[in-house]
Amino acid sequence: MKDFENKVALVTGGSRGIGRAISLELARRGATVVLSYAGNEAAATETVKLITDAGGKAKAVRFDVADSAACNQAIDEVVKEFGRLDVLVNNAGVAIDGLLMRFKDEDWQKTIDTNLKGAFALTRAVSRPMMKQRGGAIVNVSSIVGEMGNGGQSAYAASKAGLIGLTKAVARELSSRSIRVNAVTPGFITTDMTASLTPEQKEKMLTAIPLSRIGNAEEVAAAVAFLASDSASYITGEVLKVNGGMYM
Ligand code: NAP
Repeated sequence: MKDFENKVALVTGGSRGIGRAISLELARRGATVVLSYAGNEAAATETVKLITDAGGKAKAVRFDVADSAACNQAIDEVVKEFGRLDVLVNNAGVAIDGLLMRFKDEDWQKTIDTNLKGAFALTRAVSRPMMKQRGGAIVNVSSIVGEMGNGGQSAYAASKAGLIGLTKAVARELSSRSIRVNAVTPGFITTDMTASLTPEQKEKMLTAIPLSRIGNAEEVAAAVAFLASDSASYITGEVLKVNGGMYM
């Protein structure tokens, strides 16, 4: 299925984990994928190679999503190079854990700036070219933690809950130009972000997941690609859970 043929997609945090899986899936379905990364050039280059080796089109760009000027520039450059931008996936994120009483202001700020402000800045920047095109799809990668909370993750939860509010507000604001805005809320997915959990923590988590297993990045990518595709043409402002039933 090449349903993204002639479409251009920007996937933030596309170098690793869920973002890599999203980049691979969109490219497999015909999109030209611009994947962004923060600093891990080797991982970004590997993702591009995986795509091009399979016959797809991709390039990697490095910028910090927490820097609004860099976000504006990145969108300008994509539109200049490819003439359009059809899909934005706000996936880049950090998880800084810590108990509330000891949580530092700078960790709060970094979390909000990366996970929430970054998505806001890129969405604002992409709104103009998408409005001109009279169409586009934006998918925000939120988290189950933004829906149900989690002790020790107050900043992360706030940033991810904020993304859901952003999704719904922008979905309403841009709907008249046929720009759809949706979110996914993954549960517990195997990536570098969850690699540091102890076997005991993982075991405990499993008891709370009705499907009795940890999810994989490809399962999130399939949901993101669906929301970004024309198959979801009447879906906007939606929050799609990809969590094995952990939160219903
Ligand atoms: P990951 O493996 O840690 O990868 C994070 C990605 O984000 C990398 O590509 C990284 O780039 C990029 N990134 C981080 N900070 C950035 C910044 N300031 N500017 C630009 N790019 C930045 O994470 P993941 O597990 O795939 O998670 C992807 C998204 O899914 C995140 O938003 C996360 O919150 C969300 N999520 C994950 C899970 C899970 O269980 N894994 C569950 C729910 C939601 P570099 O490679 O250059 O460092």
